[in-house]
Amino acid sequence: MMERSDSVLLPEQRVPVIAKCDILVVGGGSAGLSAAIAAKRQGADVVLVERYGYLGGLASGGLIVLLLTLDDGAGRQVVAGLCQELVDRLEARGGCYYPPKGEWGDSSDELITQYQRRGLVWGSAPHKVRYSVAYDPEEFKFVANEWVAETSVQLLYHRWASDVVQDGDRITHVVFTSKAGRQAIACNTVIDTTGDGDLVAFANEPFELEEVHPWLWFRMAGIDDASADGDAVAQARGFRTVKPGQALLPWGAAERIDRRIDATNPDDLTYAEIECRRMVMEEVDRLREQIPAFKDAYLTDMALTLGITESRRLVGRYVLQREDLDKPFDDVIAVTGHWTKYDCTYQIPYGSLLPKDVTNLLVAGRCISVDHRVHHATKEIPACFATGEAAGVASALALSSDVLPRDLDTTQLQKALREAGAWLPDRA
Ligand SMILES: Cc1cc2nc3c(=O)[nH]c(=O)nc-3n(C[C@H](O)[C@H](O)[C@H](O)COP(=O)(O)OP(=O)(O)OC[C@H]3O[C@@H](n4cnc5c(N)ncnc54)[C@H](O)[C@@H]3O)c2cc1C
Repeated sequence: MMERSDSVLLPEQRVPVIAKCDILVVGGGSAGLSAAIAAKRQGADVVLVERYGYLGGLASGGLIVLLLTLDDGAGRQVVAGLCQELVDRLEARGGCYYPPKGEWGDSSDELITQYQRRGLVWGSAPHKVRYSVAYDPEEFKFVANEWVAETSVQLLYHRWASDVVQDGDRITHVVFTSKAGRQAIACNTVIDTTGDGDLVAFANEPFELEEVHPWLWFRMAGIDDASADGDAVAQARGFRTVKPGQALLPWGAAERIDRRIDATNPDDLTYAEIECRRMVMEEVDRLREQIPAFKDAYLTDMALTLGITESRRLVGRYVLQREDLDKPFDDVIAVTGHWTKYDCTYQIPYGSLLPKDVTNLLVAGRCISVDHRVHHATKEIPACFATGEAAGVASALALSSDVLPRDLDTTQLQKALREAGAWLPDRA
Protein backbone atom coordinates (compact mmCIF):
# COMPACT_ATOMS: atom_id res chain seq x y z
CA MET A 1 0.00 0.00 0.00
CA MET A 2 1.24 3.47 -0.90
CA GLU A 3 1.64 5.68 2.19
CA ARG A 4 -0.36 8.89 2.26
CA SER A 5 1.03 12.14 3.61
CA ASP A 6 -0.92 15.25 4.63
CA SER A 7 1.06 17.51 2.36
CA VAL A 8 3.55 17.50 -0.46
CA LEU A 9 6.44 19.84 -1.11
CA LEU A 10 6.42 21.15 -4.66
CA PRO A 11 9.78 21.70 -6.30
CA GLU A 12 10.69 25.28 -7.14
CA GLN A 13 9.57 26.03 -10.63
CA ARG A 14 10.49 28.73 -13.15
CA VAL A 15 7.21 30.03 -14.55
CA PRO A 16 7.10 31.76 -17.94
CA VAL A 17 5.87 35.37 -18.01
CA ILE A 18 3.44 35.36 -20.93
CA ALA A 19 2.42 39.03 -20.87
CA LYS A 20 3.29 42.37 -19.33
CA CYS A 21 0.73 45.12 -18.99
CA ASP A 22 -0.23 48.31 -17.18
CA ILE A 23 -3.47 46.92 -15.81
CA LEU A 24 -4.38 43.30 -15.30
CA VAL A 25 -8.07 42.57 -14.77
CA VAL A 26 -8.71 39.10 -13.34
CA GLY A 27 -12.24 37.73 -13.84
CA GLY A 28 -14.41 38.49 -16.88
CA GLY A 29 -17.82 38.94 -15.27
CA SER A 30 -19.81 42.19 -15.37
CA ALA A 31 -17.28 44.03 -13.21
CA GLY A 32 -14.25 42.70 -15.09
CA LEU A 33 -15.67 43.46 -18.53
CA SER A 34 -16.47 46.97 -17.43
CA ALA A 35 -13.13 47.55 -15.65
CA ALA A 36 -11.12 46.37 -18.66
CA ILE A 37 -13.00 48.52 -21.18
CA ALA A 38 -12.93 51.57 -18.89
CA ALA A 39 -9.18 51.30 -18.27
CA LYS A 40 -8.43 50.76 -21.95
CA ARG A 41 -10.49 53.80 -22.95
CA GLN A 42 -8.34 55.87 -20.58
CA GLY A 43 -5.32 54.84 -22.64
CA ALA A 44 -3.90 52.04 -20.47
CA ASP A 45 -2.49 48.80 -21.77
CA VAL A 46 -4.98 46.21 -20.43
CA VAL A 47 -5.08 42.41 -20.18
CA LEU A 48 -8.33 40.73 -19.11
CA VAL A 49 -8.09 37.11 -17.94
CA GLU A 50 -11.07 34.78 -17.48
CA ARG A 51 -11.06 31.15 -16.33
CA TYR A 52 -13.89 30.05 -18.64
CA GLY A 53 -14.48 30.60 -22.37
CA TYR A 54 -17.05 33.40 -22.19
CA LEU A 55 -17.54 36.81 -20.61
CA GLY A 56 -20.31 37.83 -18.23
CA GLY A 57 -19.83 35.41 -15.32
CA LEU A 58 -23.14 35.11 -13.48
CA ALA A 59 -24.75 37.63 -15.84
CA SER A 60 -24.43 35.21 -18.77
CA GLY A 61 -23.26 31.72 -17.76
CA GLY A 62 -25.17 31.95 -14.47
CA LEU A 63 -28.36 32.80 -16.39
CA ILE A 64 -28.93 35.80 -14.10
CA VAL A 65 -30.28 37.69 -17.09
CA LEU A 66 -31.99 40.62 -15.38
CA LEU A 67 -30.28 43.97 -14.81
CA LEU A 68 -31.79 45.06 -11.47
CA THR A 69 -31.75 48.05 -11.52
CA LEU A 70 -30.36 51.14 -13.22
CA ASP A 71 -32.64 53.50 -11.28
CA ASP A 72 -33.33 54.71 -7.74
CA GLY A 73 -36.90 53.40 -7.61
CA ALA A 74 -38.31 56.90 -8.06
CA GLY A 75 -37.90 57.20 -11.81
CA ARG A 76 -34.33 58.57 -11.90
CA GLN A 77 -31.50 56.69 -13.66
CA VAL A 78 -28.47 56.34 -11.33
CA VAL A 79 -26.38 53.76 -13.22
CA ALA A 80 -25.34 54.85 -16.70
CA GLY A 81 -21.89 54.65 -18.33
CA LEU A 82 -20.84 51.22 -19.55
CA CYS A 83 -23.95 49.50 -18.17
CA GLN A 84 -26.11 51.79 -20.31
CA GLU A 85 -23.81 51.11 -23.26
CA LEU A 86 -24.35 47.37 -22.73
CA VAL A 87 -28.12 47.92 -22.87
CA ASP A 88 -27.72 49.99 -26.07
CA ARG A 89 -25.60 47.28 -27.67
CA LEU A 90 -28.04 44.53 -26.67
CA GLU A 91 -30.97 46.59 -27.89
CA ALA A 92 -29.35 47.15 -31.28
CA ARG A 93 -29.47 43.36 -31.71
CA GLY A 94 -33.02 42.95 -30.35
CA GLY A 95 -31.49 41.09 -27.40
CA CYS A 96 -33.17 42.87 -24.48
CA TYR A 97 -36.44 44.18 -23.12
CA TYR A 98 -37.18 47.00 -20.63
CA PRO A 99 -39.85 49.55 -19.71
CA PRO A 100 -39.55 52.78 -21.74
CA LYS A 101 -38.35 55.85 -19.83
CA GLY A 102 -41.83 57.40 -19.70
CA GLU A 103 -43.03 54.47 -17.57
CA TRP A 104 -40.30 54.53 -14.88
CA GLY A 105 -41.87 55.33 -11.51
CA ASP A 106 -45.40 54.54 -12.77
CA SER A 107 -47.51 52.64 -10.24
CA SER A 108 -50.45 51.48 -12.37
CA ASP A 109 -51.49 47.88 -11.64
CA GLU A 110 -51.51 46.91 -15.29
CA LEU A 111 -47.90 47.96 -15.89
CA ILE A 112 -46.71 46.48 -12.61
CA THR A 113 -48.20 43.08 -13.49
CA GLN A 114 -46.76 43.25 -17.01
CA TYR A 115 -43.23 43.89 -15.70
CA GLN A 116 -43.48 41.50 -12.75
CA ARG A 117 -44.09 38.76 -15.31
CA ARG A 118 -40.71 39.65 -16.83
CA GLY A 119 -38.94 39.67 -13.45
CA LEU A 120 -38.44 43.43 -13.62
CA VAL A 121 -40.35 44.49 -10.48
CA TRP A 122 -39.54 43.03 -7.03
CA GLY A 123 -39.89 43.93 -3.35
CA SER A 124 -43.06 44.67 -1.48
CA ALA A 125 -46.03 46.84 -2.53
CA PRO A 126 -46.78 49.64 -3.25
CA HIS A 127 -44.77 49.03 -6.44
CA LYS A 128 -43.39 51.27 -9.13
CA VAL A 129 -42.03 50.46 -12.57
CA ARG A 130 -38.21 50.28 -12.46
CA TYR A 131 -35.56 50.85 -15.08
CA SER A 132 -34.58 47.18 -15.14
CA VAL A 133 -33.65 45.15 -18.20
CA ALA A 134 -34.23 41.51 -19.25
CA TYR A 135 -31.85 40.15 -21.90
CA ASP A 136 -30.66 37.03 -23.66
CA PRO A 137 -27.44 35.47 -22.23
CA GLU A 138 -26.02 34.40 -25.62
CA GLU A 139 -26.48 37.94 -26.90
CA PHE A 140 -24.59 39.18 -23.83
CA LYS A 141 -21.67 36.83 -24.52
CA PHE A 142 -21.55 37.82 -28.19
CA VAL A 143 -21.81 41.56 -27.51
CA ALA A 144 -19.12 41.32 -24.81
CA ASN A 145 -16.64 39.56 -27.13
CA GLU A 146 -17.23 42.14 -29.88
CA TRP A 147 -16.96 45.04 -27.44
CA VAL A 148 -13.67 43.83 -25.98
CA ALA A 149 -12.19 43.21 -29.44
CA GLU A 150 -13.33 46.64 -30.65
CA THR A 151 -11.70 48.29 -27.63
CA SER A 152 -8.45 46.32 -28.17
CA VAL A 153 -8.41 44.88 -24.67
CA GLN A 154 -6.17 41.79 -24.73
CA LEU A 155 -8.47 38.94 -23.67
CA LEU A 156 -7.04 35.67 -22.37
CA TYR A 157 -9.54 32.86 -21.72
CA HIS A 158 -9.03 29.52 -20.00
CA ARG A 159 -6.58 30.66 -17.36
CA TRP A 160 -7.35 30.36 -13.66
CA ALA A 161 -5.59 32.79 -11.29
CA SER A 162 -4.02 30.69 -8.55
CA ASP A 163 -1.45 32.91 -6.82
CA VAL A 164 0.27 36.27 -6.71
CA VAL A 165 3.95 37.22 -6.51
CA GLN A 166 4.54 40.19 -4.21
CA ASP A 167 7.38 42.59 -3.63
CA GLY A 168 6.57 44.19 -0.28
CA ASP A 169 3.19 45.88 -0.55
CA ARG A 170 3.00 45.48 -4.37
CA ILE A 171 1.78 42.60 -6.52
CA THR A 172 4.34 42.19 -9.32
CA HIS A 173 2.77 39.16 -11.05
CA VAL A 174 -0.37 37.06 -10.99
CA VAL A 175 0.14 33.34 -11.55
CA PHE A 176 -2.37 31.42 -13.68
CA THR A 177 -2.93 27.69 -14.09
CA SER A 178 -4.20 26.22 -17.34
CA LYS A 179 -3.74 23.23 -19.63
CA ALA A 180 -0.42 24.88 -20.55
CA GLY A 181 0.75 24.59 -16.92
CA ARG A 182 1.59 27.60 -14.79
CA GLN A 183 2.11 31.01 -16.40
CA ALA A 184 2.59 34.48 -14.94
CA ILE A 185 1.52 37.94 -16.07
CA ALA A 186 3.50 40.99 -14.96
CA CYS A 187 1.53 44.15 -14.29
CA ASN A 188 1.61 47.57 -12.77
CA THR A 189 -1.87 47.38 -11.22
CA VAL A 190 -4.31 44.50 -10.63
CA ILE A 191 -8.10 44.64 -10.46
CA ASP A 192 -9.75 41.72 -8.67
CA THR A 193 -13.09 41.06 -10.36
CA THR A 194 -13.24 37.34 -9.57
CA GLY A 195 -16.50 37.75 -7.64
CA ASP A 196 -14.97 35.61 -4.89
CA GLY A 197 -12.11 38.00 -4.07
CA ASP A 198 -9.52 35.37 -5.00
CA LEU A 199 -6.70 37.92 -5.33
CA VAL A 200 -7.70 39.56 -2.07
CA ALA A 201 -7.15 36.17 -0.42
CA PHE A 202 -3.91 35.38 -2.29
CA ALA A 203 -2.51 38.78 -1.26
CA ASN A 204 -3.49 38.15 2.38
CA GLU A 205 -5.80 41.15 2.57
CA PRO A 206 -8.57 40.77 5.18
CA PHE A 207 -12.00 39.60 4.01
CA GLU A 208 -15.31 38.33 5.36
CA LEU A 209 -16.68 35.05 4.06
CA GLU A 210 -20.39 34.35 3.80
CA GLU A 211 -21.85 30.84 3.40
CA VAL A 212 -24.94 30.79 1.18
CA HIS A 213 -27.63 28.55 -0.23
CA PRO A 214 -26.70 27.83 -3.85
CA TRP A 215 -29.07 28.59 -6.72
CA LEU A 216 -29.23 27.17 -10.22
CA TRP A 217 -31.36 29.11 -12.68
CA PHE A 218 -32.67 27.34 -15.78
CA ARG A 219 -34.78 27.97 -18.87
CA MET A 220 -37.53 25.98 -20.56
CA ALA A 221 -39.05 26.44 -24.02
CA GLY A 222 -41.99 24.93 -25.88
CA ILE A 223 -44.47 26.38 -23.37
CA ASP A 224 -47.96 26.70 -24.82
CA ASP A 225 -48.50 30.48 -24.66
CA ALA A 226 -52.08 30.06 -25.95
CA SER A 227 -53.02 27.65 -23.16
CA ALA A 228 -56.25 28.38 -21.27
CA ASP A 229 -54.73 27.97 -17.79
CA GLY A 230 -54.01 31.66 -17.14
CA ASP A 231 -50.39 32.71 -16.86
CA ALA A 232 -48.67 29.33 -16.73
CA VAL A 233 -45.20 30.86 -16.40
CA ALA A 234 -46.21 32.81 -13.28
CA GLN A 235 -47.78 29.60 -11.91
CA ALA A 236 -44.39 27.95 -12.40
CA ARG A 237 -42.81 30.85 -10.45
CA GLY A 238 -40.91 31.82 -13.58
CA PHE A 239 -40.54 34.83 -15.83
CA ARG A 240 -41.21 35.42 -19.50
CA THR A 241 -37.98 35.92 -21.45
CA VAL A 242 -37.25 37.93 -24.60
CA LYS A 243 -38.37 34.90 -26.64
CA PRO A 244 -41.94 33.56 -27.08
CA GLY A 245 -42.78 30.21 -25.50
CA GLN A 246 -39.77 30.43 -23.18
CA ALA A 247 -39.45 30.90 -19.42
CA LEU A 248 -36.60 31.73 -17.08
CA LEU A 249 -36.96 29.75 -13.86
CA PRO A 250 -35.01 31.33 -11.03
CA TRP A 251 -34.93 28.14 -9.06
CA GLY A 252 -33.14 28.21 -5.75
CA ALA A 253 -32.20 25.37 -3.53
CA ALA A 254 -32.78 27.62 -0.54
CA GLU A 255 -36.00 25.86 0.36
CA ARG A 256 -34.80 22.34 -0.36
CA ILE A 257 -31.06 21.86 -0.17
CA ASP A 258 -30.01 20.85 3.32
CA ARG A 259 -27.16 23.28 3.96
CA ARG A 260 -25.39 26.47 3.04
CA ILE A 261 -22.11 26.22 1.18
CA ASP A 262 -18.77 28.02 1.15
CA ALA A 263 -18.35 28.88 -2.53
CA THR A 264 -14.56 28.99 -2.17
CA ASN A 265 -14.49 25.34 -1.07
CA PRO A 266 -14.35 22.91 -4.02
CA ASP A 267 -15.91 20.09 -1.98
CA ASP A 268 -18.92 22.25 -1.16
CA LEU A 269 -19.17 23.25 -4.82
CA THR A 270 -19.07 19.63 -5.95
CA TYR A 271 -21.85 18.72 -3.53
CA ALA A 272 -23.98 21.68 -4.65
CA GLU A 273 -23.46 21.07 -8.39
CA ILE A 274 -24.73 17.50 -8.11
CA GLU A 275 -27.62 18.27 -5.76
CA CYS A 276 -28.83 21.36 -7.64
CA ARG A 277 -28.74 19.66 -11.05
CA ARG A 278 -30.69 16.71 -9.65
CA MET A 279 -33.26 19.01 -8.04
CA VAL A 280 -33.68 21.13 -11.16
CA MET A 281 -34.47 17.99 -13.18
CA GLU A 282 -37.06 17.00 -10.56
CA GLU A 283 -38.60 20.47 -10.93
CA VAL A 284 -38.64 20.18 -14.74
CA ASP A 285 -40.53 16.88 -14.45
CA ARG A 286 -42.94 18.36 -11.91
CA LEU A 287 -43.77 21.35 -14.14
CA ARG A 288 -44.42 19.08 -17.12
CA GLU A 289 -46.73 16.89 -15.08
CA GLN A 290 -48.62 19.56 -13.12
CA ILE A 291 -48.98 22.59 -15.41
CA PRO A 292 -50.85 21.85 -18.66
CA ALA A 293 -49.07 24.58 -20.67
CA PHE A 294 -45.74 22.92 -19.76
CA LYS A 295 -46.83 19.44 -20.97
CA ASP A 296 -44.59 19.58 -24.07
CA ALA A 297 -42.06 22.05 -22.69
CA TYR A 298 -38.39 21.10 -22.61
CA LEU A 299 -35.29 22.20 -20.76
CA THR A 300 -33.13 24.43 -22.96
CA ASP A 301 -30.36 25.11 -20.49
CA MET A 302 -29.36 25.02 -16.87
CA ALA A 303 -26.92 27.73 -15.78
CA LEU A 304 -23.30 26.79 -16.50
CA THR A 305 -22.35 27.93 -13.03
CA LEU A 306 -24.07 27.78 -9.66
CA GLY A 307 -25.80 30.97 -8.58
CA ILE A 308 -23.61 32.16 -5.73
CA THR A 309 -24.88 35.37 -4.22
CA GLU A 310 -22.01 35.87 -1.84
CA SER A 311 -18.64 34.49 -0.76
CA ARG A 312 -15.60 36.62 0.14
CA ARG A 313 -15.99 40.36 0.62
CA LEU A 314 -12.95 42.60 0.98
CA VAL A 315 -12.58 44.40 4.29
CA GLY A 316 -11.01 47.45 2.75
CA ARG A 317 -10.24 51.08 3.51
CA TYR A 318 -13.96 51.77 3.98
CA VAL A 319 -16.70 49.23 4.70
CA LEU A 320 -20.03 50.55 3.41
CA GLN A 321 -22.73 49.91 6.04
CA ARG A 322 -26.49 49.65 5.96
CA GLU A 323 -26.65 52.91 7.94
CA ASP A 324 -24.99 54.61 4.95
CA LEU A 325 -28.19 54.36 2.90
CA ASP A 326 -28.80 57.76 1.24
CA LYS A 327 -25.60 59.12 2.82
CA PRO A 328 -23.45 61.36 0.60
CA PHE A 329 -19.71 60.62 0.29
CA ASP A 330 -17.10 63.11 -0.93
CA ASP A 331 -15.26 60.27 -2.67
CA VAL A 332 -18.36 58.69 -4.29
CA ILE A 333 -17.38 56.77 -7.45
CA ALA A 334 -20.64 54.93 -8.19
CA VAL A 335 -24.27 54.94 -7.10
CA THR A 336 -26.79 52.12 -6.93
CA GLY A 337 -30.47 51.88 -6.18
CA HIS A 338 -31.92 48.93 -4.25
CA TRP A 339 -33.80 46.29 -6.25
CA THR A 340 -36.32 45.61 -3.48
CA LYS A 341 -36.67 49.17 -2.14
CA TYR A 342 -37.98 52.38 -3.64
CA ASP A 343 -36.59 55.90 -3.67
CA CYS A 344 -33.25 55.23 -2.02
CA THR A 345 -29.62 54.83 -3.07
CA TYR A 346 -26.22 53.85 -1.79
CA GLN A 347 -23.34 56.07 -2.81
CA ILE A 348 -20.30 53.79 -3.11
CA PRO A 349 -17.12 55.49 -1.88
CA TYR A 350 -13.73 54.93 -3.51
CA GLY A 351 -12.49 53.44 -0.20
CA SER A 352 -14.77 50.41 -0.77
CA LEU A 353 -12.62 49.40 -3.77
CA LEU A 354 -9.27 49.76 -1.99
CA PRO A 355 -7.56 47.15 0.18
CA LYS A 356 -5.90 48.26 3.39
CA ASP A 357 -2.29 47.36 2.63
CA VAL A 358 -1.51 46.19 -0.93
CA THR A 359 -0.93 49.40 -2.86
CA ASN A 360 -1.57 48.32 -6.45
CA LEU A 361 -4.73 46.23 -6.05
CA LEU A 362 -8.31 47.42 -6.63
CA VAL A 363 -11.46 45.36 -6.18
CA ALA A 364 -14.75 45.67 -8.10
CA GLY A 365 -18.03 43.79 -8.43
CA ARG A 366 -19.71 41.66 -5.82
CA CYS A 367 -16.62 41.31 -3.58
CA ILE A 368 -16.11 45.02 -2.74
CA SER A 369 -15.86 46.25 0.82
CA VAL A 370 -19.44 46.46 2.09
CA ASP A 371 -21.35 44.74 4.88
CA HIS A 372 -23.63 41.75 4.31
CA ARG A 373 -26.80 43.83 4.06
CA VAL A 374 -25.41 46.47 1.69
CA HIS A 375 -24.07 43.63 -0.44
CA HIS A 376 -27.69 42.82 -1.27
CA ALA A 377 -27.69 46.04 -3.35
CA THR A 378 -24.05 46.36 -4.50
CA LYS A 379 -23.91 42.78 -5.81
CA GLU A 380 -26.50 43.54 -8.51
CA ILE A 381 -25.22 43.56 -12.10
CA PRO A 382 -25.63 47.31 -12.78
CA ALA A 383 -23.75 48.13 -9.56
CA CYS A 384 -21.00 45.66 -10.56
CA PHE A 385 -20.71 47.43 -13.93
CA ALA A 386 -20.47 50.77 -12.12
CA THR A 387 -17.78 49.71 -9.63
CA GLY A 388 -15.89 47.96 -12.45
CA GLU A 389 -15.95 51.14 -14.50
CA ALA A 390 -14.74 53.17 -11.52
CA ALA A 391 -11.89 50.73 -10.79
CA GLY A 392 -10.84 50.75 -14.46
CA VAL A 393 -10.81 54.54 -14.75
CA ALA A 394 -9.11 54.95 -11.33
CA SER A 395 -6.32 52.48 -12.08
CA ALA A 396 -5.55 54.08 -15.44
CA LEU A 397 -5.65 57.62 -14.05
CA ALA A 398 -3.41 56.70 -11.13
CA LEU A 399 -0.91 55.28 -13.58
CA SER A 400 -0.94 58.30 -15.89
CA SER A 401 -0.73 60.66 -12.88
CA ASP A 402 2.14 58.61 -11.45
CA VAL A 403 0.47 58.13 -8.06
CA LEU A 404 -0.71 55.08 -6.15
CA PRO A 405 -4.43 54.32 -6.64
CA ARG A 406 -5.04 55.19 -2.97
CA ASP A 407 -3.45 58.64 -3.48
CA LEU A 408 -5.50 59.51 -6.56
CA ASP A 409 -7.34 62.83 -6.40
CA THR A 410 -10.97 61.69 -6.23
CA THR A 411 -12.22 64.96 -7.75
CA GLN A 412 -10.13 64.17 -10.82
CA LEU A 413 -11.52 60.61 -10.79
CA GLN A 414 -15.14 61.83 -10.56
CA LYS A 415 -14.53 64.25 -13.45
CA ALA A 416 -13.10 61.46 -15.61
CA LEU A 417 -16.00 59.15 -14.73
CA ARG A 418 -18.56 61.79 -15.67
CA GLU A 419 -16.75 62.50 -18.93
CA ALA A 420 -16.84 58.76 -19.67
CA GLY A 421 -20.65 58.80 -19.21
CA ALA A 422 -21.03 57.48 -15.66
CA TRP A 423 -23.74 58.98 -13.45
CA LEU A 424 -22.67 60.64 -10.19
CA PRO A 425 -24.66 62.98 -7.95
CA ASP A 426 -24.27 66.72 -8.59
CA ARG A 427 -22.37 67.66 -5.47
CA ALA A 428 -19.63 65.06 -6.00
C1 LIG B 1 -29.26 33.51 -7.55
C2 LIG B 1 -28.84 34.91 -7.90
C3 LIG B 1 -29.80 35.82 -8.33
C4 LIG B 1 -29.39 37.10 -8.69
N1 LIG B 1 -30.32 37.94 -9.23
C5 LIG B 1 -29.91 39.10 -9.79
C6 LIG B 1 -30.79 39.85 -10.60
O1 LIG B 1 -31.95 39.47 -10.82
N2 LIG B 1 -30.34 41.01 -11.13
C7 LIG B 1 -29.06 41.47 -10.90
O2 LIG B 1 -28.70 42.56 -11.41
N3 LIG B 1 -28.19 40.75 -10.16
C8 LIG B 1 -28.58 39.58 -9.62
N4 LIG B 1 -27.69 38.80 -8.92
C9 LIG B 1 -26.34 39.31 -8.64
C10 LIG B 1 -25.41 39.27 -9.83
O3 LIG B 1 -25.76 38.27 -10.75
C11 LIG B 1 -23.95 39.05 -9.44
O4 LIG B 1 -23.65 39.51 -8.16
C12 LIG B 1 -23.05 39.74 -10.45
O5 LIG B 1 -23.33 39.20 -11.73
C13 LIG B 1 -21.59 39.55 -10.07
O6 LIG B 1 -20.76 40.10 -11.06
P1 LIG B 1 -19.18 40.05 -10.83
O7 LIG B 1 -18.57 40.52 -12.09
O8 LIG B 1 -18.82 40.71 -9.56
O9 LIG B 1 -18.87 38.50 -10.58
P2 LIG B 1 -19.13 37.23 -11.49
O10 LIG B 1 -20.27 37.41 -12.39
O11 LIG B 1 -19.15 36.08 -10.54
O12 LIG B 1 -17.83 37.18 -12.39
C14 LIG B 1 -16.58 36.72 -11.91
C15 LIG B 1 -15.80 36.21 -13.09
O13 LIG B 1 -14.49 35.87 -12.68
C16 LIG B 1 -14.14 34.59 -13.16
N5 LIG B 1 -13.20 34.04 -12.18
C17 LIG B 1 -13.47 33.71 -10.91
N6 LIG B 1 -12.36 33.28 -10.28
C18 LIG B 1 -11.37 33.36 -11.20
C19 LIG B 1 -9.99 33.07 -11.15
N7 LIG B 1 -9.40 32.62 -10.02
N8 LIG B 1 -9.24 33.25 -12.28
C20 LIG B 1 -9.83 33.69 -13.44
N9 LIG B 1 -11.14 33.99 -13.53
C21 LIG B 1 -11.88 33.83 -12.41
C22 LIG B 1 -15.45 33.85 -13.23
O14 LIG B 1 -15.41 32.75 -14.13
C23 LIG B 1 -16.40 34.95 -13.69
O15 LIG B 1 -16.48 35.07 -15.08
C24 LIG B 1 -28.04 37.51 -8.55
C25 LIG B 1 -27.08 36.59 -8.10
C26 LIG B 1 -27.48 35.29 -7.80
C27 LIG B 1 -26.43 34.30 -7.41
